[in-house]
Order: sequence, then structure tokens, then C-alpha cells
Amino acid sequence: MLHGMCRHRHANENRVTPATPAKARCLVEILRRRATRRKLILLECGIIRYAPFADCGRPLWDLMALQPWFETTQPPAEWFKIYRATQQVPDVAPSNERPWQFTQVNGHHAVEWLEQHADGTADDDQLLLAGEYFHHAEYAAEAYRFDTPDEQRAELEIRYGVASWLLSLREIGPKLWNILDYYLANFPGEFYVWASWRPFHPEHRATATGLIDDILGHPLQSIQFDDAWRTPDAIAIASTMYETRDFSPAPILADALEDAGCDNTGVLTHCRTERRHCRGCWVADLLLGRS
Ligand SMILES: [Zn+2]
Repeated sequence: MLHGMCRHRHANENRVTPATPAKARCLVEILRRRATRRKLILLECGIIRYAPFADCGRPLWDLMALQPWFETTQPPAEWFKIYRATQQVPDVAPSNERPWQFTQVNGHHAVEWLEQHADGTADDDQLLLAGEYFHHAEYAAEAYRFDTPDEQRAELEIRYGVASWLLSLREIGPKLWNILDYYLANFPGEFYVWASWRPFHPEHRATATGLIDDILGHPLQSIQFDDAWRTPDAIAIASTMYETRDFSPAPILADALEDAGCDNTGVLTHCRTERRHCRGCWVADLLLGRS
């Protein structure tokens, strides 16, 4: 049984306390100081994209592509603002008196909006729409709970676990920081499904902590990035990796940095070691001036 900790990822009950073993507590405390809101949102999105979720070994990103409730049509943000304020469904858009335009939205759109929000390229309306989408997905998945054919039940339970997980991203507030405590100190190894808990894939946590390491770096290592290393070559490689999410040219980036005079083993080893990088990777971020 769990001792005082909460299995929900963002719960304050997961925070490290003086009773947490010292090593885990120090790690969380150092990394919390280093994390930014942007980095934590990108971490959440990296976990969605890459961390195997349940027995099937597929990440949430793949699971979202496969079920009808992950796709919906949504009105614009203005509609939600009126509806939330008045609890009345508005007939027409007050801004132009026209009928509402609905657009097709799925989980991939919503996660991409979060990533764009982290980088400052999505406006508040897109964040609101992502939140409403996560709300919808959970609601719709819950509805599928009834009349499920037996042979589809296990699969549907996992997908509900996905929807319930997404719902926790609805409010990107201060509790976002608790994700570090959750993975590094109080990881319960289970995800929520219809009032019960199921085990994560055995590699889920290792993938998530690997992403934390990629985004926040080694807790005892603090690297001063020399301006001279920011050559057009190095910046072009890092920008392309960031845009395409294909980080396989990382060893080539190491060569470019070395050509520019970089002899920092932390930086070079990070790029040359076989590992998963994601948006928020500390080397690419330092090079591109992102934090
Ligand atoms: Zn990296």
C-alpha cells in the first residue's frame, strides 16, 4: 500500500518531505529550481509522445490515434467562454452574429497546442481549447464505459486511462512542478482506470526519467555555454532537430560544436551518447537560447 502519497501525478501529496530519502529529495529540489514552466510542459508532452503507457507498450500519443472519442468537433474559444460564464448554449457568435464554426479536433492537435503554448506560439484561446478538448475526451471515454463488448474491454480501459491522464493537463498551473516529485520520488507505478488502478508499462518510469534528464540535465552539472559555439552550422542543426523532433543528427551537432571550439565533455557526451532527446533537450535549448 502507498504511504501517504497520492497516485495522481500532480497531487500535492506527492511532494517530497523531510521524510523522503535524502537522495531523491535533493534531486527533486535541485531540478525544481532549474525547471521552467516551458520545460515542464514540454516534459509532459514528451512523456505523452514517448513513454510506454500500459502493457501494450505504446505511448499515449499512439493510443490517442485509435479511438473515436479522441476525435471531436469543437466550437471556437468564444463559445466556451460564454458557455462557462452563463451555462447557456449561445446561438450565434456575438462578435459577428453568425452561426458558430465548428472544427475537427483530436488529441494530437491538443498536445501540439500545449507544445506551442510552451514556446509562446499559441495564444490563450488555443490553451483554453486544449483544456476543453481534454475535458471532452474524458467525458466521452467515460460514456463508453457502458455497453462495452467484453472482447474490447481491456483495450477500452487503457484508453480511458489515457483520457483520464489527459484531463490532468487541463489546468497547467503551479501543480505542474509536482511531476518531478512524482517521477523521481513518489512514483506509484499505476494509472487510473474507472475507479481502479492498473500497472504502467515497466519502462514507463525509465523513459520519463530519461526525458527529465534530457530536459533538465545532470543535477550536479551546470554548464556555461560559450557564445563562440553558436555557429550558424550548429544553430541550423539544432533548429532543424527541434522543428522536426528528429534528434538523430545529435552526434553531427557534437562535431559542429567541437569545430566551434567546444570541449565541454558534458555537452559533447550528451550529443554523442545513444539516448532519446525531445523538445526541451538542455543542449539544444542552451544553443538556441531557450530556457
Ligand atoms: Zn538531449
